[in-house]
Order: sequence, then C-alpha cells, then structure tokens
Amino acid sequence: MVIIGGGFAGLNLARKLDKGLWDVTIVDRNNFHSFPPLFYQVASSGLEPASISFPFRRELLSRKYRGCRYHIGDVRTIDVSAHTVHTQYETLHYDTLVLAAGSTNNFFGIPELEKHVYTLKSTSEAIRCRNEVLDRLERASLCKDPARKRRLLTFVVIGGGPAGVEIAGALGEFKRFTLKREYPSLEQSDMRVILVEGTDRLLAAMSAKSSADALEGLSQLMVDVRLGKQMKSYDGTTVVFADGTTEESDTVVWTAGVTGVPFELKGTDVKPGPGARWLVDEYNSVEGIDDMYAIGDIALMITDKYPKGHPQVAQVALQQAANLARNLSEPRKEPRTFEYRDKGSMATIGRNRAVVDMGKMHMSGRPAWFAWLVVHLLTLLGMRNRAVVFINWMWSYFTFSAGLRILIRPGRFPLRKYWDE
Ligand SMILES: Cc1cc2nc3c(=O)[nH]c(=O)nc-3n(C[C@H](O)[C@H](O)[C@H](O)COP(=O)(O)OP(=O)(O)OC[C@H]3O[C@@H](n4cnc5c(N)ncnc54)[C@H](O)[C@@H]3O)c2cc1C
Repeated sequence: MVIIGGGFAGLNLARKLDKGLWDVTIVDRNNFHSFPPLFYQVASSGLEPASISFPFRRELLSRKYRGCRYHIGDVRTIDVSAHTVHTQYETLHYDTLVLAAGSTNNFFGIPELEKHVYTLKSTSEAIRCRNEVLDRLERASLCKDPARKRRLLTFVVIGGGPAGVEIAGALGEFKRFTLKREYPSLEQSDMRVILVEGTDRLLAAMSAKSSADALEGLSQLMVDVRLGKQMKSYDGTTVVFADGTTEESDTVVWTAGVTGVPFELKGTDVKPGPGARWLVDEYNSVEGIDDMYAIGDIALMITDKYPKGHPQVAQVALQQAANLARNLSEPRKEPRTFEYRDKGSMATIGRNRAVVDMGKMHMSGRPAWFAWLVVHLLTLLGMRNRAVVFINWMWSYFTFSAGLRILIRPGRFPLRKYWDE
C-alpha cells in the first residue's frame, strides 16, 4: 500500500493497519507530521514550529508502525492503469493507493491573491506569516511617514472561520498586551487588526452562541470585526471590498477557502468532485477507480446527514482512517460503513477566551479555554512536544511574553537547484 500524506488521516491509517497483511509506504512532501490546529500559534510567535511537528522517521521506529516505510516526495502524478505514483524523485508501484493529502488554499481563481496574501495551510506558510508580521512591526517602529506606518501596521485577516478567528485573536492579544511594552515607539492606536467575514456571523459551523461569544471576545482584544463584507481584490497594498470600500495594508492573511490537493491523474476519466475532493462510497473507496481510497479532507462522502460531505476537521480524518484500517485489516469480516461521531467543536480567541460546542452544550470563557488547552495538548504527537507546548503556554500565560518573536529569514545563498524543483 502507498499512502499519500502522513497527516491525521494517513498516519493514523498506517498505525492501525495490520502490518502482517500490508506492506505500507507513506509518501509525504515534508519529513514530519504536522499539527494544523496550532499553525496560527506559530504564525503569531506563540510556539516554535518544531514543537508542533514530529519527524516521520522517529515516529516509524515505534512498535505500532513496525514495517512501515517513509519516502520524501511531492506526489504530482498518479497513473491508475499502471498502478504507479510519481514524485519529483521516484516512481512507486502500488497494489492499493490511499489519498490522504488533505487540502490546500483556495484562491477562488483570483491570481493576484496567490502572489500577495499570507496563508496558514502548512508549517512553512505559518513561519512565513510569522516573519512577515515581525518584519512589519520592526519596520513600523522606524517609520517616520504616518501613511506608510499605518499601512505597515494594518493587519487584515480574511475569513471568520476557526483559523481566521484564532489568528486575529492572537494579533489582537499582541496589540493589547505586548505592543507598547516591546515597541515603545509605537502606540496601541497605530496597530489595527481587521477581521473580514463574508457572512453575517463568525464561526458559521458552530452555534449562534459561540459566534456571539467569539465576536465579543475579539472586540475585547481590539479586533475590528467586519461581517457581511467580501474582499474583491488585493494588489499587495490596497484591499478592495465588494461594497467599493478599501483598506491600505501590507499584510493580508487569507483563511477564507480550502480545496483538495490537486493531482494529475492518468489512465482514467474520473475527476474530483466539488471542492476538488474525491467522491468516495461509505467505505472510503474512490468511485470509479479500482484499488484507490481517499480519507480525510480530500475525501467527499455524501450521506443523508452530510449532503455536502463531512466537515474538513481532524476528527473526521482520524475516524475515517480507523474505519478503513479496520476494514482492510480484517478482510474476512463484513466491511463496516463509515459513521461520523461528532465529538464537538472548539475555537480559541485568546487567553481565557474560547468557545466549545458539544451537542447541545455550550461553554465559553476560561473553562472553554482550559478544555481547548487540554484537548490540543492530548492530541499533539510526542511527549516532548506536549511538554514543550505546555511549558510555553504556561510561561506566556503568567508573563504575557512569548520569547519566540525572532525573525529568521532562510538564507538565499548558496543557491541549490533542488530548492526550485
Ligand atoms: C490553520 C488550520 C487550523 C485548523 N484548526 C482545526 C481545529 O482546530 N480542529 C480541527 O478538528 N481541525 C482543524 N483544522 C483542520 C484539520 O487540520 C484537517 O481537517 C486535518 O488536518 C485533515 O487531515 P488530513 O490527514 O486529511 O490532511 P492533513 O493533516 O493536512 O495532512 C495531509 C498531509 O499530506 C501531505 N501532502 C499534501 N500534498 C501532498 C503531495 N502532493 N505529495 C505528498 N504529500 C502531500 C502534507 O504534507 C500533509 O502531511 C485546521 C486546519 C488548518 C489549516
């Protein structure tokens, strides 16, 4: 079996499969498993990237993965008639292929967005975002031109889902508690954090109570939330909204859309469905292609309860992986159809501020924030990472200071050809 992607879905499948029956190779473009729910903390200098990443080679040493291999590679082409997967380095043969490559940013066909906005869909994008935010603050602290300074210190976040709310909250918290202390030449009123959402409420997938609490929490953190507003274009300096208004900003963080990771498929006419997700049956088998499964964000399973597919969240990815592993590891048993058990959803807005929905139960404020901390710590891979994250969080909780505001730009010299591949 070849599994494309060692995220929540791919890694959990590899762990749970019977390795006596399956010879498993995980192919991933990064040599580590990452934890997307905390990317915003990397982007806002709250955590270092290594504390939310886990190297595959170390993970595969564990007894639970005995027999699994890891290959680095960005899968670009899949030939379903030849049963091969092609990366920039090699061609791999498979008997069974599992797509678990997750999703990527959707710029809705607006090409200039891709060039100018910052995004949070991978560890490297989060590091980039962190560096750009720190760069704006440093340059603003030296800037004498008021208009230029205002543009440097206007941070616009597009998209009021969990990722948008979380990064806007982190920037707001920085403005409220840290800016004046660390940048004495800047005033609080110089920095603006604007969160733009196209619909009439934040966290649309959560309860109305959570949306209202998130709005209130963000206003306490001095975030200017603009609902029912859509961005039309951005050229790197001017954000133009659909209602004709504009904002000058050097930093726009885009969290407004996702789409399945694209592949070139040979030997079949089958194409991905809406959202570039692969249409699967109730066993996660890709419709119309033999020996191919899709799990997690990249899979689209349409059911009566989820006519637009399941939400693209970690729990769905983990549960689909577990169900597929069970079906493929026990071939003599009747295969089990996938049923999603929704364990609830949560988002954090800042210290002591979070929202949690579990069935009909709603929590907010400090208890929700503690619940959020515990759930995220427990889901993180590796004891070292848990300990480092816990210490970091406690340190910033009591000192209001994240010691990680370090601007490290990757060196551009010496140039290496493989960096372009
Ligand atoms: C900023 C952010 C915040 C989020 N917050 C939450 C949250 O709070 N709670 C929650 O439940 N969910 C959250 N999610 C969603 C959650 O992370 C996803 O639903 C989950 O990661 C999906 O798991 P997956 O295995 O399908 O994909 P992923 O976890 O994204 O894993 C995909 C893997 O495939 C690899 N890959 C991709 N393309 C290729 C390729 N072409 N070749 C080789 N390898 C490839 C990637 O490197 C990655 O390792 C968040 C997502 C983001 C981006």
